[in-house]
Amino acid sequence: MSLEIKKYDVVIVGAGLAGLAAARELQVAGKNVAVITKLHPLRSHSGAAQGGINAALSEEDSIELHEFDTVKGSDYLADQDAVNLMCSKAPETIRWAEHMGAAFSRTEQGTIAQRPFGGQSKPRACYAKDRTGLTLLQTIYEQMHRENVKVYDEWYCMDLLYEDGKVNGVVAYDIKSTQTAIFNAKAVMFATGGYGRAFSVNSNAHANTGDALSIVARHGLPLEDMEFVQFHPTGLAGSGVLISEAARGEGGRLYNSEGERFMERYAKEKMELAPRDVVSRAITTEIREGRGVGPNKDAVAIDLTHLGEEIIMERLPELRDLAITFLGQDMIKEPIHIAATAHYSMGGIPCNIDGQVQKSPTELVEGFYAAGECSCVSVHGANRLGANSVLEALFFGRHVGKAIARDVDGLGFKDATEQNAQKALAQLETLLTNNGSERVPELRNELQESMTFDAGVFRTRETLLRQKEKIAELKRRYKDIRIDDKSKVYNTDLQEAIELGHLIDFSSFIVEGALAREESRGAHYREDFPTRNDEKFLQHTFGYMKEDGSIELEYADVVLGKFEVKERTY
Ligand SMILES: Cc1cc2nc3c(=O)[nH]c(=O)nc-3n(C[C@H](O)[C@H](O)[C@H](O)COP(=O)(O)OP(=O)(O)OC[C@H]3O[C@@H](n4cnc5c(N)ncnc54)[C@H](O)[C@@H]3O)c2cc1C
Repeated sequence: MSLEIKKYDVVIVGAGLAGLAAARELQVAGKNVAVITKLHPLRSHSGAAQGGINAALSEEDSIELHEFDTVKGSDYLADQDAVNLMCSKAPETIRWAEHMGAAFSRTEQGTIAQRPFGGQSKPRACYAKDRTGLTLLQTIYEQMHRENVKVYDEWYCMDLLYEDGKVNGVVAYDIKSTQTAIFNAKAVMFATGGYGRAFSVNSNAHANTGDALSIVARHGLPLEDMEFVQFHPTGLAGSGVLISEAARGEGGRLYNSEGERFMERYAKEKMELAPRDVVSRAITTEIREGRGVGPNKDAVAIDLTHLGEEIIMERLPELRDLAITFLGQDMIKEPIHIAATAHYSMGGIPCNIDGQVQKSPTELVEGFYAAGECSCVSVHGANRLGANSVLEALFFGRHVGKAIARDVDGLGFKDATEQNAQKALAQLETLLTNNGSERVPELRNELQESMTFDAGVFRTRETLLRQKEKIAELKRRYKDIRIDDKSKVYNTDLQEAIELGHLIDFSSFIVEGALAREESRGAHYREDFPTRNDEKFLQHTFGYMKEDGSIELEYADVVLGKFEVKERTY
């Protein structure tokens, strides 16, 4: 079969909130757009967002306070220009979503209801019950569809066309048939979401395998701040399935096996509503010191019974269902068991405030953009606050879509040839024909378990060095894998093998960044360097993968601003 070359003005990879919001703006601007997504758009992980989306809407709140909470929450690593832009546009973003048709939950007076979230000074998270992401995703999908953007769903993006500092498209294959095509474009936007699947206990969809990060890194382009992985305090014990922060926001209380409300020891003032990094470490410490609950003593309890049936059924119905399904525990009647779960990736593809991808701290790639969780703009710094990331995806998705609409006519167009797909085709061929002795699920389990154990909530030089070795070993063994399904129709074995390669590659950035960062900041906690070191590390990490697979690091300045760098206490 000959290889098809499709031509568009703009190709967007990813159909979560960031990708769809950008597509919508580009359609409105009259551009010719393709959206490529390995899932049906409505199955994107954005649809799993439960708790809410932040905006300073109420009279008692202000944009400046939202900015301050975000910068403090980030442990001062966020770029304050990007934070200012996002927070000041948050109210408008909510209004836009509402005018598109999103039905937010209401107060009795009829205004948009807002709930408190960790690390926020005011109740600021707008929500649609505990199905906020789904409501937004469905709304934008419907509107975008009406405008007729071409969506290639169940197409898997494998490679980027990148030459002489300019991106000219992507290579992708149709999952139904493994038929490969080149999508030739003036501009490409990556909006491929997060990468929590590098860890064994995580809250992420199976699809969150960080493909775009490894695709970018393999071209020698940098990844930023990868050592900052957020562990959410309330994953269901055992599975890691998320119980939204709304549970703490609505008044959930945490208890250990001795019946102590232990947050008193870790964050006296904010208690359960301290930010995620603080609460996750508190929970993990309680468990490590033997005060866990449950048959394996590997969890703590969150008690919501005092809220009563009415409030739980009105505001947290989905969470109740999840706990019943996965644990057999009904939060109306009893406390449920939770533990920290890998949840969100602060790091990603470095880009400027308009989403233009960076080649280095000072240079840009032409025709290449990123937004949403796969990007690092950076509004979350070392730790993201709850309900700021749906906001990031929606706001920056739109903003970057508009930036592309503005730039695209001035960008060059380089005709692609079949040659551009050779690397991807060779990779498919190798994976389909290799007859080695290693199996994908085994390698993946080993990676996920060792990442959780040695590069998780707590880290030391020793554990990170061990994990560096482990990744080198997994890279060697990956070359010797064999998949059983050799067919070309819906070959999920093949896709999982490609994804495993991605998981291994970007995990090495997490480990190298964490090893070099000899301090504790936000979600990155080094037991051997338990304090923050602003003199040396108030800096963004830029990692580059070399031909031999090793990672080289350099550091870039943080964009500071009106908020003075201070100690972070709650
Ligand atoms: C359980 C859960 C609950 C959450 N709750 C909240 C919340 O209440 N508030 C909040 O602010 N944040 C929340 N978050 C985080 C937030 O939902 C995400 O950060 C955000 O929605 C990410 O949006 P996105 O558009 O960047 O990516 P996603 O929605 O993850 O979309 C990624 C897209 O990329 C596509 N893709 C990926 N790789 C490829 C490839 N190789 N080829 C083709 N397509 C590809 C996928 O098909 C998908 O369409 C939650 C996250 C989780 C996991």
